[in-house]
Amino acid sequence: MARYTGAVCRLCRREGQKLFLKGDRCYSQKCAIDKRAYPPGQHGQGRSKASEYGLQLREKQKAKRYYGILESQFRGYFEMAAKKKGQTGENLLSILESRLDNTVYRLGFGMSRAEARQLVRHGHFIVDGKKVNIPSFLVKPGMVIALKESSRGLDKIKGNLEAGAFRKAPNWLEFDATNLLAKVVGSPTKEDIDLPIAEHLIVEHYSK
Ligand code: SF4
Repeated sequence: MARYTGAVCRLCRREGQKLFLKGDRCYSQKCAIDKRAYPPGQHGQGRSKASEYGLQLREKQKAKRYYGILESQFRGYFEMAAKKKGQTGENLLSILESRLDNTVYRLGFGMSRAEARQLVRHGHFIVDGKKVNIPSFLVKPGMVIALKESSRGLDKIKGNLEAGAFRKAPNWLEFDATNLLAKVVGSPTKEDIDLPIAEHLIVEHYSK
């Protein structure tokens, strides 16, 4: 399946909630879902109640869009989660949250996950002293993620950190704002995730 290249605000309207895909616009009065809180399209305001399957599908789509992941990769994460000890749904959320692009976003380096992904791809971050430019890289407890020395002067990143100061780093990350690095001090839990995702619906969807 190809990556979605249409208007991202439509995705929020489709899911009926903010997915924070556009950075600072999402926190402003320009947010499309604040202005038109109904699904896009000709029949957007006249849709009937979703079926059980429809609810499960929407929850999976919402999580994929939230993290900007395609189906095959998302399915791979689900299978990885199912093999781990504990609840599959919670394991899945923990894996998604541990992606390097999400980690960079959660630390405030990017105003959206899409922007954080681009920053990672452009090689602005090092993990345990080595450059990592793979957005799907999974961080683990004990690792240290740092902004590269040569990237510290970038206006974009400096501006994001200032604007994103309201976004407090989650409990599993210990952020050192002076040295622009963070230590992973635990594994993300469901409570650390800043969007309500009913993960049991995703598990039900894939368990059919
Ligand atoms: Fe979603 Fe952000 Fe667009 Fe609002 S501005 S609809 S939160 S992407």
